Amino acid sequence: MERLQKVIAHAGIASRRKAEDYITGGRVKVNGEVVKELGTKVGKKDLVEVDGVPIYQEEPVYYLFYKPRGVISAVADDKKRKVVTDYFAAVPERIYPVGRLDYDTSGILLLTNDGDFSQRLAHPKHQIDKVYVAKVKGFAEKRTLYPLTKGVRIEGKKTAPARFEILSTDKKAETSIVELTIHEGRNHQVKNMLAAVGLPVQKLKRERYGDLTLKGLRPGEYRRLNTKEINTLL
Ligand code: URA
Repeated sequence: MERLQKVIAHAGIASRRKAEDYITGGRVKVNGEVVKELGTKVGKKDLVEVDGVPIYQEEPVYYLFYKPRGVISAVADDKKRKVVTDYFAAVPERIYPVGRLDYDTSGILLLTNDGDFSQRLAHPKHQIDKVYVAKVKGFAEKRTLYPLTKGVRIEGKKTAPARFEILSTDKKAETSIVELTIHEGRNHQVKNMLAAVGLPVQKLKRERYGDLTLKGLRPGEYRRLNTKEINTLL
């Protein structure tokens, strides 16, 4: 545990003296609450904010997680459903997911405590391939999926061109397995894109994120990313 003014000064945003002024001036929050008491002690997991801007005390860490179906991509849920960070109880850092996968979607999810990294990856300018495999209702044909390579209108906005591959079709069950590669990350994007061409998604998995795959992991397992892997994402 460290004194609050020391933590602020260490973050490089103010001298110790100035940090004390920030605290007594009500500009500092710890875990969402204004703290005006000098000498308040905080630990590595506490979220310290100055003027609403979080200060990271921790070393940045990056994890690749195989999210199972039936888990929320958040750090807490008001309905008390299982959340992804429940799997990281043994991890000391305060991590959170980079973007989201739907509750019923499985596959690659990155978690970090690095706010800059997370914002860079979420930026629409950031074009990293995300590869999804979907089981859809219906018989997928090239011409059915073709519009996705040009972009389809979803909620008034055209999607960026995507790539697809038809992995298999089951005529009897009237289902198909389709791989879709996109680099955007709008809400329910893959489900909406496939629904837009008449192929409603029954099951969805994110298999690849940039060069990262789920190799060696089972659902619910995670591993640390190394510097080389992190750099390939930026
Ligand atoms: N697209 C979706 O529709 N759902 C996800 O979870 C991810 C991408």
